[in-house]
Amino acid sequence: MAKRQLVSEMGVQEQSIWLGNHNFSEDARVRLVDLSRKMTDCPKCETPSKRHSVGYRYVNEVGLAEPVVLEIRASKHRCTSCKKIFSYPTGYISPPGSQYTNRVIRTAIDLHVEQDMTYREVCERMLEKYHVDIPLTTINEWVLAQRAEEGARVSKIEEEVRKRISEDKE
Ligand SMILES: [Zn+2]
Repeated sequence: MAKRQLVSEMGVQEQSIWLGNHNFSEDARVRLVDLSRKMTDCPKCETPSKRHSVGYRYVNEVGLAEPVVLEIRASKHRCTSCKKIFSYPTGYISPPGSQYTNRVIRTAIDLHVEQDMTYREVCERMLEKYHVDIPLTTINEWVLAQRAEEGARVSKIEEEVRKRISEDKE
């Protein structure tokens, strides 16, 4: 893991953290997504909190003409009230810790579920059409996670229906 540290024009400490085994092709187009804010509310107690540093994540995005990597720049904040340290939320672009965007994950799952492709076919299509290299095991994990999520949703609905039926009987 390589790290670089520098001080930005705002005098904010910047940290570039290359996630573990993340390697993307050298011809990838890198697009900056700037989610650095001077102030944001603490997720725990909602106190407006100042930025204390900036971090980076690199994630693979769907690329039609060439490989695309998003450089997600996100501010880190320390709450003055409850002392919690937190990052500006980036989960709507990519799940925490993932090397891929939500769009990549959604596209791969849809190819398997909607178009009945095998994992290997999904893998080949994602590479040929969208320029994203995804291990078969990762695609498998995404599909299983998606099924688990759907299963949890269904059993919650079933539980509520059962509850309502038993309430009606009373
Ligand atoms: Zn707080």
